[in-house]
Amino acid sequence: MSDIETVGRVIADDRPGVTRPGVLVIYTGGTIGSKPRDPDPDSPQVVVPWEALKAGTPEIARLPFAVDCFSIEPPLDSCNIGPVHWTQMANAIYANYDNYTGFVILHGTDTMVYTASALSFILRDLGKPVVLTGAQRSALVSTRNDATQNFLTALEIANPPFANIPVVPEVCIFFGGKLLRGNRTIKEDTSGYEAYVSPNLELLGEVGDRIVINEKNIRPLPERGRRLTLRSRPSTSVLPVFVYPGIQDNPEILRAQLETPGLKAAVVLSFGSGNIPTDEKFLDVFRSARERGILLADVSQCPRGPVELGIYETSEALLEIGFVAGADVTVEAAQCKLMTLFGQDGITCEEVEEEFQENLAGEHSFSVFVTRWGAGSGGELSGAGERARTRPVQLAGKWTPQRVDRAIVRLRGAQAVGPPAASEAKPLDQYKVQGDQPAVADPKGYVEFSVYLNLDAGATPDESSPNFAGRYKTWPLTRKSTMFVDISRAIRETSEAGDRVSITVFLHTAEAQLSWEAAEMAIFNRELAQ
Ligand code: ASP
Repeated sequence: MSDIETVGRVIADDRPGVTRPGVLVIYTGGTIGSKPRDPDPDSPQVVVPWEALKAGTPEIARLPFAVDCFSIEPPLDSCNIGPVHWTQMANAIYANYDNYTGFVILHGTDTMVYTASALSFILRDLGKPVVLTGAQRSALVSTRNDATQNFLTALEIANPPFANIPVVPEVCIFFGGKLLRGNRTIKEDTSGYEAYVSPNLELLGEVGDRIVINEKNIRPLPERGRRLTLRSRPSTSVLPVFVYPGIQDNPEILRAQLETPGLKAAVVLSFGSGNIPTDEKFLDVFRSARERGILLADVSQCPRGPVELGIYETSEALLEIGFVAGADVTVEAAQCKLMTLFGQDGITCEEVEEEFQENLAGEHSFSVFVTRWGAGSGGELSGAGERARTRPVQLAGKWTPQRVDRAIVRLRGAQAVGPPAASEAKPLDQYKVQGDQPAVADPKGYVEFSVYLNLDAGATPDESSPNFAGRYKTWPLTRKSTMFVDISRAIRETSEAGDRVSITVFLHTAEAQLSWEAAEMAIFNRELAQ
C-alpha cells in the first residue's frame, strides 16, 4: 500500500481456492447496483451496498479468479459523482495497482464518460485495463437485464491472462457488446442496451460469443520502467459555454459568467467546425476574459469531426483572441482534461494551452504544436526582391514528419498593399493564399511572395531546393489580419521536431508592400489511433 489516502473500504473475495492476482472492482453505484426502494416495483430506485449487488449476481461465484471490491462510501447515483470521487477511484487504483490484473469500475451510465475521461488524464503511464461498465437495467430488478453480461465481460477484459486476450492498457468503457475508449465516448441513448458510441474513433473491441480486441486501436503500453503516477485533484473552475443563435444579443450574461472569481477556463461549445457569432461586442467578452488569463477552448457541438483553428480565415478572429482548439475531442473529455490539467499545482494558463492541444491519452486524432519566432519576427518589405528573415528557433512539440498533416506559418498582424494596377481592382478585405503557384506575369493587384526555410542571410534563393516552401499570393489587406501560409511539404521534407528553423519571406511584386508583426508556425500532427 502507498501513503495515498483512499476513502472507502476493500472487501476481499473470501471464496476458497480463487486464483490471484484477480480483479479489483471499484463500486460506485448507479443503476447496476440499484433496486426499487419499496416493495412496490415502481418506487424510486436506490443504490444498494456491494454485498447486495454481489448476492444478486451469483454468476460471479463461478469465476475462478478473485473478485475483490473497493466500494466508495456510500455508493451513489452517478449524477452525484464528481472530482472528489474521481480522486478516490484513482487513489484506489494507485494503492492497489500491483495486486491485480486490472480494474473494473461499476458506475451509473449518466456520467460514466466524464469519469472515464477524467481518469484517463489522472492516471499517467497506465499499463493495465481500467474498464468502466454499468447497466440500463439491473439484475436486482429483472432477469431480463444487461447488467450481468456487462459486468462479467468487463471482469474478463480486466483479466487478460484469464480471457486470453491482449492487455488493453487504458481507461475504457465496456457496454452493450462494445469496448470503447472512455475519453472518446458519448452517451447517445437514455435507455438502449447499446447506449454509447465513439464517433471519432473505431471500437477498441467487440464482444459476441468471443472477446475480440482491435489491437491496432489500443494505446501502447507505457515505456519500460515508467510506473503509474497520478495528476493531482481536478479543479472545478472550468465553465462550459453553450453557444446558441442569439447568445451575441445579450453578452452581459456571458460576461457575468466569465467574471466568476477563480475561473480558470471556458469550454466554448461552438457550431460546426468551431465557429461562433462574430459580433464584436460578443467577441470582446472573450477578449477580455483571455486578457485576464482565462483559457478559452473551442470544442464543437457536433459529435463527429474536428475543430481546426488557424487554417482558414473563418477562425481568424478566434485565433487572434487566443482560443485554442480541441481537434475532435468530445465535450466531456475537453471539460475533464481542463479540470485535470488545472488541478496541478502551479500550472500556468500557457502550459495548459500547450497540453490541451496535445494528445495526452488518445483523446483526439491530431495534436497541434505551435512554435513562435517571437519578438523581432516581424517584417516590412516594399518592392520586388526584398526579404525578411527570422532568427532560427527550435520547432516545438512531439511530431514526426511522416505524420505532419499540415504545417501553417501564421503571419500575425499582416498588411499588404498591391501594385498600382490594384487600384482598379475592388480592394478586398480578405486574402487568398495558394500554395506552390507559378509566378504570374501580371499580378492584377496580387501581392506575390515566396517562403524559404533555413535560407542563410544573403544566400541566393533557389526554387528547386527542398527548403523552398512555395510561392503565395495575397490580396491587398486593408486591415491587420493573420495570413496563413501552408508550408507542409517543406516541413515534411526538411525538418524534424526539435530542429532549429528560420523562415525567410521574399517579396516578388514590384511596387507592392507586405508587412507583418510576428511569425509563428502551427504543426498539425496526425496521431495514430492511439
Ligand atoms: N441515474 C443513473 C446513474 O447514472 C442511471 C444509470 O446508471 O443508468 O447513476
